[in-house]
Amino acid sequence: MQVFTSVIVLGLCFTAFVISHISDYKQRKVRTMTGIAQLIGTNSISALEFDDNEAAKKILGDLQKISPETINAAILDKKGNVFAEYKKAGEGSYLFSLPSQNKNITEFTNNKFLIFSSIVNNNQFLGTVCLRVELNELNTIKASQYKIAFVLLIAGIGLSFLIAFIVQRYISKRLLNLVTVMKQVSESGNYKLEVQDNYKDEINTLIRVFNEMMEQININLQKKDEFIGIASHELKTPLTTVKAYLEILDNIEREEPNKQYVEKTLDNVKRLEQLIYDLLDVSKIQSGQLYLNINEFDIDTLIDETIASFQIVSRDHIIKRMGEKINQVIIADRQRIEQVLVNLLSNAIKYSPHEREVLVSARRKKSELIVTVRDFGIGIAKEEQNKVFERFYRTRNNSILISGFGLGLYICRDIVKRHNGKIWIESENKGTAFSFSLPVQNNKNIKNQGEEIKD
Ligand code: ADP
Repeated sequence: MQVFTSVIVLGLCFTAFVISHISDYKQRKVRTMTGIAQLIGTNSISALEFDDNEAAKKILGDLQKISPETINAAILDKKGNVFAEYKKAGEGSYLFSLPSQNKNITEFTNNKFLIFSSIVNNNQFLGTVCLRVELNELNTIKASQYKIAFVLLIAGIGLSFLIAFIVQRYISKRLLNLVTVMKQVSESGNYKLEVQDNYKDEINTLIRVFNEMMEQININLQKKDEFIGIASHELKTPLTTVKAYLEILDNIEREEPNKQYVEKTLDNVKRLEQLIYDLLDVSKIQSGQLYLNINEFDIDTLIDETIASFQIVSRDHIIKRMGEKINQVIIADRQRIEQVLVNLLSNAIKYSPHEREVLVSARRKKSELIVTVRDFGIGIAKEEQNKVFERFYRTRNNSILISGFGLGLYICRDIVKRHNGKIWIESENKGTAFSFSLPVQNNKNIKNQGEEIKD
């Protein structure tokens, strides 16, 4: 835009420059020729008074020397008849027709102009000097002006390109920096990032507004997290009481349909309870208070027990343990690792409603233990595979049909990372395989507390 504007401005300037130069040249020429016409007029007074054509012709003949660009000239008497005539060698005659008013007049046609100058003596009109002059230098002047204008225009464009390039680098660099941070924010969901900029201009205003907006988002997120923490905490106690009474009722009620009503209510209360536990975990992660209770335990036992307890409640699915047992004792928080396994298993069942099999396997790879839960259900699109570990993220293909809150995997990822492990997805043609790894040795630096863990 800058270069484009500069080109237009330069173009206009040079056009004005060329036009003014040409019109200057024309005016100068007219002034000179008017002077010559007046001189001829003064010198021809006696020739006219004494009717001396030859003398008048001689005067006109001097034009050859003093004004070679004059093509035709004539002295007309007071009636407008030709008294004496001149034509440049090689040129034809020219019939001057006097303008209606008998005044000193200049007329331009193409590259030629006509000058009419009255001959007056003692206030008595004696005749008119007519000159037809060629502006033969005009084309040369035009050509040289265009050449100068062209060279300056090119130099101007080059200069404006250079300035634009320097200015653009200074502007673009900062804008690109802003865009990079924006991308990072949208990819990582980390709203604590900010852009540094020390200049004082419009871009700095934009950057400042962006930083202020991020600060505001952070404050709002913090308020939201606080609210979630307080609300789930406050809900937990009454819900535990409700659940306890429902369990008593479930034990003592024998009659239908009351028994069925109690069971249904209990199921829903359990779901509500799970949500509250998830929300409490999220708020613990946010405030860095998700502590681990580290112990030694056998991973095979944990896997088998979890599968067994799932198999009791899940009538439509068969959960199979695949591969050899690995006989591995690991150092970790048993309850939290069980929470990860439970979440992966319940997802595998939930997101494969029309399939029967869910496979669980465990293997050792160097100093790591890898547990995999595979289903053959709806799968996860490639572009969403990293996003499912974000808070409240639910994939597009299931978000309406299958209930959930998008918290489980976020919590799983944090638990695994706190154990110095990794969690990942493989989802190709059919179904999904979630795997998580845990270090089996040197697992002393497990993160018990601290900030929320990010990728
Ligand atoms: P929730 O299941 O409560 O929505 P999660 O955090 O456990 O929350 O899962 C996040 C999202 O990841 C789910 O909403 C679902 O879209 C997707 N997802 C998780 N596990 C599977 C799976 N086994 N198959 C297909 N999609 C899954």
